[in-house]
Amino acid sequence: MTNSAKRLLLFTAKLGYQTRSFEEAARKLGVQLMYVTDRCGQLEDPWGDHAIPVHFETPEAAAYKVMEALRGQEAGGILALGDRPVVAAAYAARGLGLTGNHPASVEACRNKLRTREIFREAGLRVPWFRRMPLDPSPEPALLGISYPCVLKPISLSASQGVVRANNREEFRAAAERIRRLLNSPEIQATREANLDHLIVEGYIPGSEVAVEGLLTGGELRVLAIFDKPDPLEGPYFEETIYVTPSRLSRSQQLAIEHCAQNSARALGLTHGPIHAEFRINEEGVWPIEVAPRPIGGLCSRALRFSLDSQEKPIGLEELLLRHALELPGADAPREDFASGVMMIPVPRSGILEGVTGEEAARSTTGITELIVTARLHDYIAAWPEGSSYLGFLFAKGNGPREVERAIRAAHQKLAFTITSRMPVEHPATRRMTN
Ligand code: ADP
Repeated sequence: MTNSAKRLLLFTAKLGYQTRSFEEAARKLGVQLMYVTDRCGQLEDPWGDHAIPVHFETPEAAAYKVMEALRGQEAGGILALGDRPVVAAAYAARGLGLTGNHPASVEACRNKLRTREIFREAGLRVPWFRRMPLDPSPEPALLGISYPCVLKPISLSASQGVVRANNREEFRAAAERIRRLLNSPEIQATREANLDHLIVEGYIPGSEVAVEGLLTGGELRVLAIFDKPDPLEGPYFEETIYVTPSRLSRSQQLAIEHCAQNSARALGLTHGPIHAEFRINEEGVWPIEVAPRPIGGLCSRALRFSLDSQEKPIGLEELLLRHALELPGADAPREDFASGVMMIPVPRSGILEGVTGEEAARSTTGITELIVTARLHDYIAAWPEGSSYLGFLFAKGNGPREVERAIRAAHQKLAFTITSRMPVEHPATRRMTN
């Protein structure tokens, strides 16, 4: 094997648990990781050979910078974590002649309106949908909106700003709330496109699953179907529990796999990890979205794969490294245990002042790990403004029911003290903010 085949470019906007898992897997496989990130300040050798600083909001410029920085050194593969870096990674893959998705496909996944148009053209199930400006505030009575509907920002993720409305008053309140969120300094700083518009679409009733998959030459291998046992009926849609294997019938699971393959094909995705959401009701399977990246950060710990009976199971990150570099083992099946994770919900916005019950939660039968990621004394926002969880609870067991029970029992033992933020006077406008 040449050295180039053992170098992987990892595009990421976050450095933390998941990048550490990649580092461990890379060490084990003798792979050199090269970060492409806008977080160089957080790296140990920011100006060393192992990180290329870029801005993800200008993906073509970022790709060009990567090609320049490599200066003829070759790379064997490319991976992107999180939603923001995926487009730059697709351009870089093209420029470097590496296998990857077409940039236009990846851009379509990042735009909820384009995704719906593509699904509709491909004959997949889609609700009615339309794009709307946020200013002046839209008047649903004049726009032929029917209820219930869902309002969402066009390019955010993690259900941030996604709100269900059941009538005109709720619609107007939701649109105003999303407008304020999209105008906030935090969101404006991302320089995302389409922050002045939203998409409104019909509410799809039914249960929801998440699919983790891996594309090779356009063919999808489903790594896991996660049931979401808590009803996601709104008005906000923060994730809670994911459990695999799914308890849906074999025929429903096959229909989901089929829909996942067709959705990826419609979008033109051909290579690498995908994380997708689907709703299922008596009419069939409805694709909600497909993201050309693996499941976010910590949740990947719910997935382990059995290389062979002798070795310890490997994590998703090692599987993805093997796949990206065409090393053997990328076809390892998921281990036999049932597995689950809870993204611990934020009950209300405020300052996290304390957490109790961690030891009791950890010692609950079936629980394998509890990680509280929210920082004490920091502000944490509940949905729809929020986009990060209090932490993550993991469980394993012989069946999905047992795993779900363990997660719920452990969660009940946890208590988070969240206090209201004190209003502050803005120094220039003298207005009070909260
Ligand atoms: P994001 O990329 O921010 O996660 P999604 O479009 O995937 O945005 O929506 C987030 C969640 O909101 C979905 O997982 C689903 O639970 C809910 N949701 C979104 N659109 C609809 C819809 N049309 N009908 C019902 N629920 C929806």
